[in-house]
Amino acid sequence: MADYDAVVVGSGHNGLASALVLSRAGWKVLVVEQSDVPGGASKSRELTLPGFVHDVHATNIGFFLGSDTFQEFKDDFFANGFGISAGDQPYASVFPDGDAVCGYMDPQKMVGELARQNPPTPRLGRRCCRSSAG
Ligand SMILES: Cc1cc2nc3c(=O)[nH]c(=O)nc-3n(C[C@H](O)[C@H](O)[C@H](O)COP(=O)(O)OP(=O)(O)OC[C@H]3O[C@@H](n4cnc5c(N)ncnc54)[C@H](O)[C@@H]3O)c2cc1C
Repeated sequence: MADYDAVVVGSGHNGLASALVLSRAGWKVLVVEQSDVPGGASKSRELTLPGFVHDVHATNIGFFLGSDTFQEFKDDFFANGFGISAGDQPYASVFPDGDAVCGYMDPQKMVGELARQNPPTPRLGRRCCRSSAG
């Protein structure tokens, strides 16, 4: 440990961003991670069928693309294999009754989807809360 200027505990995106900033400032940084897979709650894994990659936790991480960290390091990210995969239906919350609330990039479609949940806000909120509570 004496060989490092900083030790970052955890390789979630906050830990990795911290390590990047410190490294760029010339610090020698060690990142320690308890899991066998880095990335914390932002990682994706093949959880069901081969070739189908799922978000394990966080789904809506689009704001990262507008972050200072992404702007500062994006060239390095892309040079090291980072890629963006975006679709027009990026996510959905499914419910036990077989219905689902789908997220759309198209604002009109999104409004239509929310309107389908009529009355939109209270029912959607209740269903999301029930779903989250398991
Ligand atoms: C189910 C779920 C859904 C979410 N959905 C979204 C979403 O859609 N959009 C969004 O923006 N955010 C979402 N979040 C929140 C987002 O995932 C977190 O804000 C983000 O992951 C926090 O990043 P972090 O680097 O601080 O911590 P984490 O991502 O939690 O990473 C912490 C890391 O530290 C490691 N660690 C912990 N303790 C130790 C230790 N003692 N020694 C070594 N390693 C250690 C862990 O293994 C882990 O890898 C969601 C979170 C959850 C749980």
